[in-house]
Amino acid sequence: MNIDRSRTHAPRPDKTDGLGSLVADAARALAAVSAAPRLDAELLLAHAAGVSRSRIVAFPERDPPAGVEARFRAVLARRLDGEPLAYIRGRKDFHAISLRVTPDVLIPRPETECLVDEALAIGDSRPDCSVLDLGTGSGAIALAIKRARPSVSVTAVDASAGALAVASANARALGLDIRCLESDWFAGLGAERFDLVACNPPYVRSSDPCLDGDLRHEPRRALDGGGDGLDAIRVVLTEAPAHLAAGGALLIEHGHDQQTDVVALASGFGFRIVTARRDLSGLPRFVVLQVHEPRPQ
Ligand code: GLN
Repeated sequence: MNIDRSRTHAPRPDKTDGLGSLVADAARALAAVSAAPRLDAELLLAHAAGVSRSRIVAFPERDPPAGVEARFRAVLARRLDGEPLAYIRGRKDFHAISLRVTPDVLIPRPETECLVDEALAIGDSRPDCSVLDLGTGSGAIALAIKRARPSVSVTAVDASAGALAVASANARALGLDIRCLESDWFAGLGAERFDLVACNPPYVRSSDPCLDGDLRHEPRRALDGGGDGLDAIRVVLTEAPAHLAAGGALLIEHGHDQQTDVVALASGFGFRIVTARRDLSGLPRFVVLQVHEPRPQ
């Protein structure tokens, strides 16, 4: 039988520069900066080649098309310098949506997906409720909620015009109808009240070395919560009661070691603690609060 070997895709043993070996070499180098070096390498090469990751994984023996290897080396150098993969690719998956992200916005984190799930669970008893995402950044919380519950009316505010432009563009790209408003916390909202206010404020302590380390590429304003990390949370707790509808809930994300302090602060500001929850890593991560209702006379 005559087998045409040129039609088979078996890797040639002498081949060292196919897609697979580019990934393997990059993954070895990326182990110094990444917790998922192989995945990073595959995604970077897919990004440089303008193809899906599955094509890179499925055809390791193929040669990179012209120009791809140079583009790959350029993005690999940025990643090796510590730049987050999400900024290099310009995208991050969050909950059930994919978001465009730029250095104007915090990269949405998996722990914040738990906040969205909690908001959705609360909202289930009120299908037409109004939701405010306070400090929306890329629009992650607001858009994930709107995607899951189209009947809910969602407002997203941020004090950063740059962030708000990213959130609006994400809303347009996803075809989700939310209101985006430039506002320093509640300042631009007049006397408006909401059934649900969800907030991922900056909560990293100013002295935390991560701010100048792993987090240095992300907007400091979205991360730095002052000396004890609780400055923004104090402002939100002060202003929220005037913007919560009767029976409304406030969800706040906080640092893994801040729950005791946040609960004490919230009680001091007259809130009832509905629940205090952990994220998927098992770390205390957010609280659900309600304003104490006046007792019936
Ligand atoms: N979870 C983020 C981090 O520790 C901080 C996010 C924030 O300050 N809201 O990297």
